Amino acid sequence: MRIDVVTIFPRYLDALRESLPGRAIADGRVSLAVHDLRDWAADRHRTVDDTPYGGGPGMVMKPDVWGRALDSVVADAEEPPILVVPTPAGRPFTQAVAAELATAPHLVFACGRYEGIDQRVMVDAARRLPVREISIGDYVLNGGEVAVLVVLEAVLRLVPGVLGNPRSAGEDSFADHLGGLLEAPSYTRPAVYRDLPVPEVLLGGNHAAIDRFRRDESLRRTAAHRPDLLATAELDDRDRAVLAA
Ligand code: SAM
Repeated sequence: MRIDVVTIFPRYLDALRESLPGRAIADGRVSLAVHDLRDWAADRHRTVDDTPYGGGPGMVMKPDVWGRALDSVVADAEEPPILVVPTPAGRPFTQAVAAELATAPHLVFACGRYEGIDQRVMVDAARRLPVREISIGDYVLNGGEVAVLVVLEAVLRLVPGVLGNPRSAGEDSFADHLGGLLEAPSYTRPAVYRDLPVPEVLLGGNHAAIDRFRRDESLRRTAAHRPDLLATAELDDRDRAVLAA
């Protein structure tokens, strides 16, 4: 997978060189290029923002600078990449969106700052590329860089070969295996921690009983923390009985 990120703070993305994404880059599964938007500014101050039309506080990122940057980044692309634009006004970023992005051969990320990017940049890009305006949650960050780190962490662990144990992703919260529920709580040694024992069933080696216990805990946890997920989860009669109890 090829990834290009355009930002005014390239060093923010250094974190991608750590841990699993870092290994995927080091072993060549992923190629990452981080570009400084100011390289496409037209004045000696390397200006990337201007006052908003219609008034209001803050500054807006200039369309001409972004247009030149994106044209240049996609110029040598073999096929049109997906342009991902983090914004609190975007569609929610979910595991399903991560799974869709994980199948793309090339992603380009545009990190906004200030009041965001002039909307005509996305309208113009959509004439040539698929564009995804994505929100990572109902809160406002200072810039898109942290959102890109979030999106890429979620996407890259779904790219084949990136996770040490490929089964992990399939059994995580939201995975098809769980029918869209949250994962059950996890435990490791010691069997008793500060007078708190591990649930007995996990020590017994009865895999059918362990699977049932984990399913029940998934259901209870989802009902407690994310009842909205139950509306679309795949539930059978036994699941419904657990939820009703
Ligand atoms: N004026 C914008 C609004 O109200 O929708 C907020 C701009 S925010 C201060 C600056 C940049 O941070 C955005 O352009 C975007 O790149 C990023 N950002 C902030 N919150 C975000 C979120 N929840 N999800 C994704 N990106 C976000």
